[in-house]
Amino acid sequence: MSLSVAQDRVVSLTYRLTVAGNAVEDGTIEYLHGHGNIVPGLEAGLDGAEIGQELHVEVPPALGYGDRVEDAVQQVPRSLFPAGMEIHAGMQFHARAPDGTGVPVWVLHVDDSFIVVDANHPMAGATLTFDVTIRAIREGTAEEIAHGHMHGPDGHGHDH
Ligand code: ZN
Repeated sequence: MSLSVAQDRVVSLTYRLTVAGNAVEDGTIEYLHGHGNIVPGLEAGLDGAEIGQELHVEVPPALGYGDRVEDAVQQVPRSLFPAGMEIHAGMQFHARAPDGTGVPVWVLHVDDSFIVVDANHPMAGATLTFDVTIRAIREGTAEEIAHGHMHGPDGHGHDH
């Protein structure tokens, strides 16, 4: 019996991501299904798919990278960053929120005194269209399921 995409299974797929009619990315994803490792709309759209199946999944912003929040664009004084740190538009880093958690931000613009950062994901507000082919499915291991993500062929590739 061949496996279908379901909770706690490791899924390998190839995809093309299209936004507003433009192909923006071709790639491969391998992930543990049902643990929020990929955008929610894509994960839900793959439920029950079988190896070799081709799917066309439309993901609205709310189930993708979220709606754009204009308040999330901020000007930060250059002096708040380490003097030697190289900063350029397009780079991503983690800002420290007041509660101590890391918040991903993207640099929009840099000048001598200010850096403009955006906490919106670059694809926030976009409807994402995924054309997906399911390549492989296997059962997750107990360790993978406990961690909530897949591990590589050599087992544990990280420190937790
Ligand atoms: Zn792990």
